[in-house]
Amino acid sequence: MSSHTSLIQSLQTALGATHILTEGDLTTYERDWRGLVRGRALAVALPGNVDEVAAVVRACADHGVSIVPQGGNTGLALGSVPDASATQVVLSLRRMNHVRTLDRANLTMTVEAGCILQTLQQTAQEAGFLFPLSLAAKGSCTIGGNLATNAGGTQVVHYGNTRALCLGLEVVTAEGAVWNGLSGLRKDNTGYDLRDLFVGSEGTLGVITAATLRIHPLPKARRVAWAAVPDLDAALKLLDLAHHTLGPGLTGFEVMSQFALTLVDRYFPQLRVPMYRTSPWCVLIEHSDHESEEHARAQLESLLQHALESGAATDAIVAENLAQSDNLWHMRESISMAQAKEGVNVKHDISIPIARIPAFVAETDALLARAIPGVRLVDFGHLGDGNLHYNVQAPEGVDAVAFLQAESKHINQVVFDAVARYDGSISAEHGIGSFKADLLPHYKSPVAMALMRRIKRALDPDNRMNPGRVLTTGSEAAGRRTGQ
Ligand code: FAD
Ligand code: ZN
Repeated sequence: MSSHTSLIQSLQTALGATHILTEGDLTTYERDWRGLVRGRALAVALPGNVDEVAAVVRACADHGVSIVPQGGNTGLALGSVPDASATQVVLSLRRMNHVRTLDRANLTMTVEAGCILQTLQQTAQEAGFLFPLSLAAKGSCTIGGNLATNAGGTQVVHYGNTRALCLGLEVVTAEGAVWNGLSGLRKDNTGYDLRDLFVGSEGTLGVITAATLRIHPLPKARRVAWAAVPDLDAALKLLDLAHHTLGPGLTGFEVMSQFALTLVDRYFPQLRVPMYRTSPWCVLIEHSDHESEEHARAQLESLLQHALESGAATDAIVAENLAQSDNLWHMRESISMAQAKEGVNVKHDISIPIARIPAFVAETDALLARAIPGVRLVDFGHLGDGNLHYNVQAPEGVDAVAFLQAESKHINQVVFDAVARYDGSISAEHGIGSFKADLLPHYKSPVAMALMRRIKRALDPDNRMNPGRVLTTGSEAAGRRTGQ
């Protein structure tokens, strides 16, 4: 019996044959969200609890087979699909989707890794709380994937990214042991922070099976404003005003370029995007208020009045109610879908020190325009966090796939070199995956790379957990050779 056949038998014994998929259409598990790659899995394992996850990890270790943890498979860094070798096991957490507890006193909920983000938002809301993590993929991404990528999204300016919302984890280690770190303690200084090591590790150090998450009291009112701003310097002025006027009530601050909104209007005209035709940039501001609807509205109106008087904005509206607020958010969140309809583009999820963003965009726009005449930039993002989605679309009429193949390397270099000159990061949100693993050593300090390789070797000495992601196998080997 071949080793692979014996592994599949072990997995079937541990999980039941119906939860080990080897035949039929496995596209959902093997192709990434954007459809850029199609791998082949040896098998897809669907464990139903932490002990079954540990059994899968141990069986794979015994047979020398590597594992690709997978949640909702919405990741944008090519980290959640197997390679083309048909020798890797996809470990899908989809069946582990129970909320274990909601602790009102501790303001936490403890949930399994396969819970869909939107379901967790609803669970919290039904109990009178807010789980603030939110991103456009919320209907299909899982909290395990959010934790593994330290996802950001639209509320980071106040609530922080997924790491800031996590108080504890349950993890299956690379050798198949279970670490239960779900105490939910807000203070625990007993040595190295293992939780923070696994958050953002993109499945390369272990499998997250559950988490204790912070929830917040539901604000009394949530209102959105939409403003036209003449340039990015004005947008920063508006951000400063918003921080000072709204204080901790500022829960969202998004910027959108005219071209990004042109695409939304082209593909979703029913949304009726305001102001974009006459303004190079628009800004969405969200205010969450713990007093009342009236107070929320008055605060936003006061902010916008100052903005219009000082020239930070040239036009502005405040949503009349929650439905209108949601509609404005919907426009912002439709940019991803609209650009996908226009054709694949070269995506970047960069961060830059906030004050330097206008200069970065001006310089990089000019460099790209010179290098690729007619190139179109889909700029938008979480300006309040210094995080831009600086996406590069083919010139009008040029085949998007051919453009991506021919130009993406060059474009990445232009953009990431500029990011480095401005002391930024080449990934603020989506992570490294296998997409940027080759690039990482060029943009991260050698000391940081060496420490990361040591951590990987300590926690996953046989390189079985999502190999080739974050750290390339080549750089692993190089690290070993040079003793780093
Ligand atoms: P997957 O795609 O399944 O996996 C992502 C990575 O995590 C992989 O490396 C995988 O191996 C690992 N992983 C998954 N589950 C586990 C686990 N339980 N244990 C260990 N490792 C695991 N991201 C943002 O940060 N901000 C955004 O605003 C944002 N917007 C998006 C909008 C759209 C339309 C789309 C398609 C994606 C967006 N993303 C965004 C990217 C993506 O949704 C996030 O990275 C999300 O957190 C991935 O969750 P997932 O469950 O789909 O994970
Ligand atoms: Zn984002």
